[in-house]
Amino acid sequence: MNTHTRLLIIGSGPAGYTAGIYAGRANLSPVLLEGLQPGGQLTITTDVENYPGFPDGVDANELMENMRRQAERFGTQILSNVATKVDLGIRPFHITLDDGNEWTADSLIIATGASAKYLGLSDEQKYMGRGVSACATCDGFFYRKKVVAVVGGGDTACEEASYLAGLASKVYLIVRKPYLRASKIMQERVFSNDKIEVLFETNTLGLFGENGVEGAHLIYRKGESDEREYDLPIDGFFLAIGHHPNSELFTPWLKTDENGFIMTEQDTPCTNVPGVFVAGDVADSKYRQAVIAAGSGAKAAMEAEKYLAQ
Ligand code: NDP
Repeated sequence: MNTHTRLLIIGSGPAGYTAGIYAGRANLSPVLLEGLQPGGQLTITTDVENYPGFPDGVDANELMENMRRQAERFGTQILSNVATKVDLGIRPFHITLDDGNEWTADSLIIATGASAKYLGLSDEQKYMGRGVSACATCDGFFYRKKVVAVVGGGDTACEEASYLAGLASKVYLIVRKPYLRASKIMQERVFSNDKIEVLFETNTLGLFGENGVEGAHLIYRKGESDEREYDLPIDGFFLAIGHHPNSELFTPWLKTDENGFIMTEQDTPCTNVPGVFVAGDVADSKYRQAVIAAGSGAKAAMEAEKYLAQ
């Protein structure tokens, strides 16, 4: 089956749904592909306390469900599908879905987000949402006066460790190399913080705990003569080893940076292909916040409207 739409939105996080709300209100009758994780990354957290308008916080799934309903209210057609193939080299654009159906679209908003990288330990899945997190800003508050560990040695890890140090009683930074990769200023922030202890040349073998994380099995200087395995009691385990932007489908046509984040023209959501716009974390290596993604979804829809009117 081949169906046409003026605007197709791929992704259902705050960016995608907000694009749907704005495009719907502009009478563009957009179609939105919800993908495998309706609601996006936010749905793996519990309460959202930093989204404006909710002084007492809001359940992440409820927030996303509300955004979804708001998009639908203004005429966004939501499909529970994944785009498996796109062709941005022809007009209208061609999009193939996982059910085999083909769509054509005059314009496209890519809001496919980013996925946190994990170490690949089975314990990460086991304790997901019960001590394992990949977002200190989202979940840090639940670890007030508790002991946490952050894995990674880049800017994100240092930033998350510094943020968590403002809440937790103690923060371990687990770094696999004998040095940090982070910028000097971030390193200084970590080293000058009494609450942060950096565990260099250390890897995580697993996690343990009855109902949630109670500690991590660590290994120091793996393969060396002074190799040592030990258990570190912690309440929370934060991954900060980078994010993958979900941009693979589009890279034959769109310019990306060296980490795969889609590049935009100056401060706009416009890509190098006219009619293709981006919103949210797939183009944001730095801020990665729901409220920022929502704002960028609005911008992308406004640009799409302008493009379609021309
Ligand atoms: P990076 O890729 O810079 O760092 C990832 C870190 O995780 C590295 O220390 C890496 O170790 C470690 N790591 C990767 N895989 C594993 C693994 N399997 N086990 C243990 N450790 C692992 O990612 P970031 O998210 O930190 O940063 C991404 C980009 O965003 C960077 O350009 C950064 O500068 C930027 N950024 C800027 C900020 C700012 O300016 N305020 C804030 C946050 C990010 P190793 O060093 O051994 O490879």
